Amino acid sequence: MKFNKEYLSIAVLYLFVFLYIILDNKPGLTILFVLMAASYHFYITIKVHNVLESDKETSVSVLETKLEKTRREREEAYKRFISLSTTLGSGVLLVDEEGIIKLVNKDMIDFFDCDFNDIDYQKVNDIEPLYKFINEAYLIENRLRRQIKYKKKYYDLISNPLFDKDMFMGTLILVHDITQLTNAEKFQKRFTADVSHELRTPLSAIKGFSEILSRDKNINLEEHDEFVDLINKEANRMEIILNDLLIISKMDRLDYELTLTEKDVLDLIKENVSVIKKQAKDKGLDISIDVESKILYLDVTKMTQVILNLLKNAINYTDKGFVKVTGYQKDEDYILKIEDSGIGIKEQDYQKIFKRFYRVDKARSRDTGGSGLGLSISKNVVKKHGGKISVSSVVDKGTTFTIKLPVTK
Ligand code: ADP
Repeated sequence: MKFNKEYLSIAVLYLFVFLYIILDNKPGLTILFVLMAASYHFYITIKVHNVLESDKETSVSVLETKLEKTRREREEAYKRFISLSTTLGSGVLLVDEEGIIKLVNKDMIDFFDCDFNDIDYQKVNDIEPLYKFINEAYLIENRLRRQIKYKKKYYDLISNPLFDKDMFMGTLILVHDITQLTNAEKFQKRFTADVSHELRTPLSAIKGFSEILSRDKNINLEEHDEFVDLINKEANRMEIILNDLLIISKMDRLDYELTLTEKDVLDLIKENVSVIKKQAKDKGLDISIDVESKILYLDVTKMTQVILNLLKNAINYTDKGFVKVTGYQKDEDYILKIEDSGIGIKEQDYQKIFKRFYRVDKARSRDTGGSGLGLSISKNVVKKHGGKISVSSVVDKGTTFTIKLPVTK
């Protein structure tokens, strides 16, 4: 006991007074001693009371300080967690044992455009796929993994139950945005299906004609030559497709680089026009060049593929009239236009024609021996040069493809 000494001294004092009363019965002095003992008793009681009060205050303030320290530490830990989890690029959400969302980072809020902080997880039921996942993870108290789609985006969700000595303390949920990956996977699957389809057509034709040739012994020389020509044509088509696929697979590689050299655009155009001049002439098309001379930094091989593809298309999709190439510098760009007076392209197809294997008129493209990959390759090459390619057209009047290239290195 803390005040033993004080209480003992009071008891001793009272004992003396008591003994004095018994042994020496003088009323005056007896009253004096009793008063002195009572005063001392009163003084000690007050003193003890004050000490106890101040002790109480001290322990309350110590407790408060401790609590404040713990609160600050928790706040610090929370802030550290939030800033750390923000750099992860993944969403984090913690549902406690009572189903209240306790921790949530910025990515999580951004992914689902919802402030989850301190709400019952039941309240997120308008984000249905996420809600279903949290609900299941929370109820089964076990690890769970699922992929969900929400507003055109794909997410990979993982739940980890938290236990403290077998006591369920809640569930930690991690969310990764896998939209890019999923789209790339889908794109790859579609592309593989398209490639198989594109190759199957000429392959079936080759197989069919060669079977006729080997089976039908009564075939005459004229028919024989015709079938051989068709086999040749289809084999050439397959070769064109495979070559373009090879170019595309190189372009898709991360280490795809250009080999830039100085080249006068006028020379580049002249060289390419001379390659297809005969083709234009055979169709009765007028082909002209109005290009300003200018040295640009280009990957000549790849840019040649682009120009040749655009010129070939212009000739292939034009039955009468002209094909014209214009080039000039405008501010920091060099503008190159390849114009024709051909069948034209509907506005709704402007973007689509730059996609792999897209053709407005499949039969016509097949007749011209196109792979359906030319514009997609061209767009990629121009982009890699820091430029842009666009199209404008009037159906039955003609089409103009415009390439904008930076003039600086
Ligand atoms: P293709 O090998 O079929 O020509 P491209 O990728 O070069 O493949 O072109 C895609 C499609 O765009 C073509 O199939 C055609 O429908 C359309 N196209 C391209 N150039 C022209 C043009 N100058 N005039 C009209 N249509 C064009």
